[in-house]
Amino acid sequence: MDQILFNGKIATMDDQKPFVTALAIKKNKIAATGTDEEMLALKNEETELVDLHRKTVVPGFNDSHMHLLDYARRKEHIDLSGCKSIDELVNTIQAGIGEKEKNPDDLIIASDWNDAIFKEKRFPKKEDLDRIDSHNPIVAVRRCVNIAVLNSRAVDLFSQALSYANRINEDNAEVDEQGYFTGLLKGNVAISEVTPLLRKDQIRDILKKTFRDCLACGLTSVQTDDCTAAELEDVLEIYSDMDEKGEIPIRINAQLRISSTERFRSFLNKGIKTGDGSPFFKIGPLKLVADGTLGARTAAMKEPYADAPDTEGVMIYTKEEIDEFVELSLKGEMQIAIHTIGDGAMEMVLEAYREGMEKHPVKDPRFRIIHAQITTEELIRRYKALKVIADIQPLFISSDQPIVESRIGKEKAKWTYNWKRFMDEKIPLAAGSDAPVESFHPLKGIYAFVTRKKLDGTPENGWMPEQKLSVEEAVYAFTMGSAYASFEENVKGSISPGKAADIAVLSEDIFTIEPEKILDVVVDKTMVDGTFLYTRSV
Ligand SMILES: [Zn+2]
Repeated sequence: MDQILFNGKIATMDDQKPFVTALAIKKNKIAATGTDEEMLALKNEETELVDLHRKTVVPGFNDSHMHLLDYARRKEHIDLSGCKSIDELVNTIQAGIGEKEKNPDDLIIASDWNDAIFKEKRFPKKEDLDRIDSHNPIVAVRRCVNIAVLNSRAVDLFSQALSYANRINEDNAEVDEQGYFTGLLKGNVAISEVTPLLRKDQIRDILKKTFRDCLACGLTSVQTDDCTAAELEDVLEIYSDMDEKGEIPIRINAQLRISSTERFRSFLNKGIKTGDGSPFFKIGPLKLVADGTLGARTAAMKEPYADAPDTEGVMIYTKEEIDEFVELSLKGEMQIAIHTIGDGAMEMVLEAYREGMEKHPVKDPRFRIIHAQITTEELIRRYKALKVIADIQPLFISSDQPIVESRIGKEKAKWTYNWKRFMDEKIPLAAGSDAPVESFHPLKGIYAFVTRKKLDGTPENGWMPEQKLSVEEAVYAFTMGSAYASFEENVKGSISPGKAADIAVLSEDIFTIEPEKILDVVVDKTMVDGTFLYTRSV
């Protein structure tokens, strides 16, 4: 045996032996689990013994949907997440600019504002940003990444480029009565147009920094959609190259954002399939975006918004286009995962999945719906019938709970974020963060799953408390659930013989402490492939 870890409380997420005190590792894999006595009996001269000091151990966490590169880019931005008014937003950007020496042409990017917590309850405007004393172009991006406001300098700078690229139209930019762009951009395609691409060496550098952040949260696997920030081919090449050089310490699964069927066809023609790659860098599913977000009222609903009766949201594709993507995926052995939030978009996507399977049945498609927010009884039935995986972001409770009822009304709000219901119906749940939209710290997500509270601890009994998950269920969604979503439930996701030795050692026993206290729990150590790559400094 290479290593024996003993004297712990190990939550394996394996039905055979759910809790053990010790585990043995051989050749980077879990060799056995059991009591201290059983495991220590396996020791020989070479065995390294690790006393866990009764700490709680879980399988390494796996974030089923996030944007690692966007997170990395955002770390470089001015953070507006705490701003509770437009004045505060203006002051925060002003202070942020002051900290750094800027050339007058440098684009200032500030991100993560949320009008739901603004005193003014409105989006900031170009005129607000023009109050900032700076000659620089400024872009302030909403937390959903689907809305951005530009100051006058940025409007001047980008108006021409944007209209050349045919980006300015009523769908993605607000225009005034004279037809001039007001500075408000809608949709992440338009927004990525104004935020500059990074060079390959810069991408590599910032990714390395984020790997450290992931390990510090106990994340040993992440499934990431990275191509909004740069060309997909470039990003895949960077990851492949880093993987070959052994520079990726966590298991990356790339969700491929390919937004046109022509481009998808040419991808498939290269012979690329889901599951290709190495243990540390794998090709994941095709990732599509079917609608927008609830916050921006762009999630596609079956009926108009309660607080904006003139809109039902935005459907990005026609049914025929989705059908074609599904058909190509099934034929090309590519899994498919679609960002779908509104009940209108969800009905369309689930119907496309059903019809796709009728025409081109495959044995185990593992269709996915990312976010899966606003459902109905009928939609839940459809999930169940096709065993569609719901990729859930529990921390959305914190940002969406204040707006759900006003956006879609009390009745429909009861059918949102119904995770316990999903679990009871045996709909596979995979948990993640959608970082940088929310923090990717899985323990924060577990807190939200089990308390149904916002990060500020409200509402007192949790929002729709009947939908609370147990701690075991929450950890399962962040480990086995996510591993299942990427067809890897036989190689990771639980602490079971034969699986990768990926584990996280926690500072407290999350299974017995007050659920509210889970928010303060930190990761002491993270092991990937049999090696501790992170140890918290005390
Ligand atoms: Zn996302």
